[in-house]
This record gives sequence, C-alpha cells and structure tokens, in this order.
Amino acid sequence: GLADTDAGLPTLGPPARGAVAKVEGHKYDHGHAFVLSGGVGKGGAARMAARAALRVGAGLVTLGCEPAALTENAAQLNAIMLRAVTDATDLEQVLADMRITALGLGPGLGLTDHEAALLRVMLDAGRPTVLDADALSLIARDDDLRAQVHKRCVLTPHRGEFARLFPDISERLDAPAGEGATYSEIDAARDAASEIGATVLLKGPATVIATPTGRVAINAAVYGHAVPWLATAGAGDVLSGLIVGLLARDLSPFDAACDAAWLHAEAAHRFGAGLIAEDLPDLIPGVLASLG
Ligand code: AMP
Ligand code: MG
Repeated sequence: GLADTDAGLPTLGPPARGAVAKVEGHKYDHGHAFVLSGGVGKGGAARMAARAALRVGAGLVTLGCEPAALTENAAQLNAIMLRAVTDATDLEQVLADMRITALGLGPGLGLTDHEAALLRVMLDAGRPTVLDADALSLIARDDDLRAQVHKRCVLTPHRGEFARLFPDISERLDAPAGEGATYSEIDAARDAASEIGATVLLKGPATVIATPTGRVAINAAVYGHAVPWLATAGAGDVLSGLIVGLLARDLSPFDAACDAAWLHAEAAHRFGAGLIAEDLPDLIPGVLASLG
C-alpha cells in the first residue's frame, strides 16, 4: 500500500492484510511459484528465495535445479518441492506440465550459455517473473534476451546491476548535481521501467519501485522505514523470493514489488542488528500476523 509523506512522495506503507495474508482456500488457490537455481554449491541463494516465497503465502513452491545439485538441495529442503531441470526443452516441459503462476530466477543461477537458454524459456512463458542477480547480468549483455523482457516482469537490480542494464540512466544518476532540478533514483527507476517495459525495483538505502506507466513508490531510511542491517549477503535474494511469492498469489507486479519491499524492511527492522539473510523468511509470518 502507499501512503503520502510530508514530502509528498509516494512512500510505502504496510500492505492490506487481505491482499497478502488471506488464509482461507486450498493450497492451489494460493498459486505455485517456480524458482530456478543454479548448479552444485550455488543453491543457497535460490533456496532462500524459495523459502521466502513459501513464507509469504504461495501455496506451492518448486525449486528447479541441475540434476547434479539434487542431492545437495534435497538435504536442505522439506516443504519446497524439487525438480531437476536438464536443459531448455526439459524446462519447457516443466512449465507446460505444472500450473505455475509465477517464476523467479537469478540468485546463484550462473552466467553461461546454458543459463541464458533457460532464461529465454522462462521469458517465453510470458508469466509474472522476477529477474534478479545473474538473470539481470545475462539480460544486460544479450539484446535478444533483453527484448524478451515483458510487462509482467519485475527486475530487482542493485546499483551495480542497474548500471549494467541502464548505463545511460545510471550515468545521469551519478552526475554531480548541477544547475536546476537534480536527477534522483525516482527519476532513474521511472525512466528504466519505461525503457525496458517492465516494473523496476531499484535497491539501495532508498528502494524505488516504478512501472512502465509511471507509477512510482519509495521505501527509504530517511522516510522512516528501510533499515541499514538489510545490507547483508543474500538479503536481495530473499526480497526477490518475496516478490515471486506475492506474484504467485496474483498480486500485480507493482503491488507485489511494493508489498515485498515493505515486508522485507519491516522484518529486518523487527529483528535488529545481527540479522543474516536466512533469518528473513521466517520473520515474515510475524509481520503478516500484525497487519491491520
Ligand atoms: P542485494 O544487493 O541484492 O543483496 O540486495 C541488498 C538489499 O539490502 C536490498 O533490499 C537493499 O534495498 C538493501 N540495502 C542495501 N543497502 C542498504 C542500506 N544502506 N540501507 C538499507 N537497506 C539497504
Ligand atoms: Mg542480489
């Protein structure tokens, strides 16, 4: 949800309980999130994202991984289902067979041609999709992949990933403030969303969410919400999982990104200093329970 601040900026407030914490219905009513992870030894980030998707209320979550990584993932997962994905054709089959309502990929994915082919299949599916981390790097260096990004996608770059994806916009953002109006993260996110035709969530001490149609929201320490101890390894992976979970539950890309950013920061705020990313998913139910 959005609330106006004194500064007149659309600042994030808590989501409506009904939208994110609805308890009635069958698990199949709450969507099926599919998170694609990478190879052996790189699964931790995607597992945290998958757990976050489940904690935020997706009815089912499946983690896809390389066959060689099945054993390692199986040792770490219980409620999350596991599916080996051999290649692009196999992934097409997975997406055709299962009633998957949202997709997420990037954390721990890998950057080879193999992962680029899998990303292509995920984008081809045309479903609500979160693109983070390695998925953003793959898109940044491949114009064909970039052209397949569609309006049901949510891109979640930090400043480094943003600079690779949108070098010109990033340069403008970095330019020293000169005469006239300054170019802010809000302008940058809005221009980026318009350029790529998808929702963009630009992470940082101030997190900005923007859509191609010009809707924008901000979650920022200066306005009282984002917390410095979110700057910890893997925190972004959890955020991407929260968005996938909310997309699976049929929230719009903008609402899913806004509500996930708020829940993520609120969970970190409640935990306090010493937070590590894997604490975050399990803090979400407490935050959801306290929504008005
Ligand atoms: P990532 O870089 O992908 O791990 O994502 C980092 C997460 O931490 C994002 O949710 C950022 O918004 C958040 N974050 C990073 N730096 C800060 C900061 N200084 N204050 C508050 N949140 C931050
Ligand atoms: Mg990240």
